[in-house]
Amino acid sequence: MSEAYDLIVIGGGPAGYPAAIRAAQLGMKALCIDGWVNRDGTPSFGGTCLNAGCIPSKALLESSELYHRANHEFAVHGIGVGKVQLDLAKMQERKMAVSKANSGGVKLLFQANKVTGIHGYGRLLGNGQVGYRSLDGKEEKTFTAKHILIATGSEPVNLSKIAPFDGDRVVDSWGALDFTEVPQRLGVIGAGVIGVELGSVWSRLGSKTVILEALPTFLPMADQQIAKEGLRQFQKQGLDIRLGAKVLSAKVGKKEVTVEYEQGGEKKSEAFDKLIVAVGRRPYTKDLGIEAAGVVLDERGFVKVDAHYRTSAPGVYAVGDVIGGFMLAHKGIEEGVVLIEQLAGQKSEVNYNAIPSVIYTAPEIAWVGLTEEAAKAAGHEVKIGTSPFAANGRARAMEAIAGLVKFVSDAKTDRVLGVHMVGPYVSEMLAEAVLALEFGATTEDIQLTMHGHPTLSEAFHEASLAVDGHAIHSANRPKR
Ligand code: NAD
Repeated sequence: MSEAYDLIVIGGGPAGYPAAIRAAQLGMKALCIDGWVNRDGTPSFGGTCLNAGCIPSKALLESSELYHRANHEFAVHGIGVGKVQLDLAKMQERKMAVSKANSGGVKLLFQANKVTGIHGYGRLLGNGQVGYRSLDGKEEKTFTAKHILIATGSEPVNLSKIAPFDGDRVVDSWGALDFTEVPQRLGVIGAGVIGVELGSVWSRLGSKTVILEALPTFLPMADQQIAKEGLRQFQKQGLDIRLGAKVLSAKVGKKEVTVEYEQGGEKKSEAFDKLIVAVGRRPYTKDLGIEAAGVVLDERGFVKVDAHYRTSAPGVYAVGDVIGGFMLAHKGIEEGVVLIEQLAGQKSEVNYNAIPSVIYTAPEIAWVGLTEEAAKAAGHEVKIGTSPFAANGRARAMEAIAGLVKFVSDAKTDRVLGVHMVGPYVSEMLAEAVLALEFGATTEDIQLTMHGHPTLSEAFHEASLAVDGHAIHSANRPKR
């Protein structure tokens, strides 16, 4: 007889493993099957995020930021460090250790919560059955479950006709985390989140970095005042971001890769030592038995679900990147947990209006809620308040005054519609803005909240005051 579970999760990334843990906490017998294998051959829970995305990229962002600061920012504090040495092998080793500690943590959490976690491939067989094949293909089993959750995530889009990945000169985001030498000339296709984060890493470590972006607008999903300030700062740091530059082809030669692109109606070309292709991610549903199980995909390949994450096959659910929307780890985590709580009869729900977005550059960019442009387009009469970090004592003391905080509030109801920031540690400051949206706060609620002095969060408070022309530490906008 096949082993029976209450829940089988296929995929042990951020959307899958928390769902399995929450299920076990709520008394379900849960199994999580995950097929991730690292380049060194070790199987590992945590999916792209822990093994090849969020966590290793943040490890390198931190290391490269420290290197950059030692080279360029220590002197102003009166600290002389002589010639700063870069030991890339050691930096990469630390990155791997950080990833391994995180993914090892998932294993421990499974044990602590009595989730069965196994490495291998899961496949839908229909009628509540899941086929399992071990990583080496030697073992096969069939499990049954009341509920089956697809949390198989996404994979990088391969521009197979224009600039196909070759794993050496032309790489995806995972390959770009594993360079063993700092490329002298680095090309990046796509100025999205991955493009600017990885472009920043290698630029700080010394690569002459060119980012080619097809769209004429930088970070179109972000508030444009914030995006423009970010672009100005990145360009000041030496990142060469070319907008309206559509890549046509990439030819790999012995010593370099030559990229042809079109900008302003003109054909141009440039040679690089390495080329990162970061043009988005697509849902991963390969070899999952989707059709046989009656799970319907949409025209872009995402698993179709209803408001309760139900696919078209009874008892089969899907969450995370594989269903589309924001492809963010925390969105996947929330969806997985909420689904399980719903299955357990709880009134749980994801608030899609309060999803935090962060770009881990320096300065960081972070936002939640409606941009000024989107709020106006949605018919809101808006009032805006901004506060620059240049007017913040802590930021001055840190020598990190680039950037600002911006509030977008509803002029009639005073409700906070969105908060947008570019500046130091704004990824951490964002939590207050998310809470404000989650609680349906008015601007006045924030204005009446005392903020510690001297902290960066005072810029958040000041921006809320500026909405009504009450900012104390910066000039208020003249009333229109
Ligand atoms: P993206 O969709 O954010 O950006 C891709 C960019 O590539 C777009 O701006 C697009 O216009 C451009 N592009 C496409 N084809 C092009 C061409 N031929 N020439 C030039 N430019 C071209 O995708 P991404 O940066 O690859 O990220 C993938 C996903 O992963 C996103 O959903 C992102 O949110 C997520 N992610 C998030 C974080 C984070 O939250 N910090 C970090 C990494 C990835």
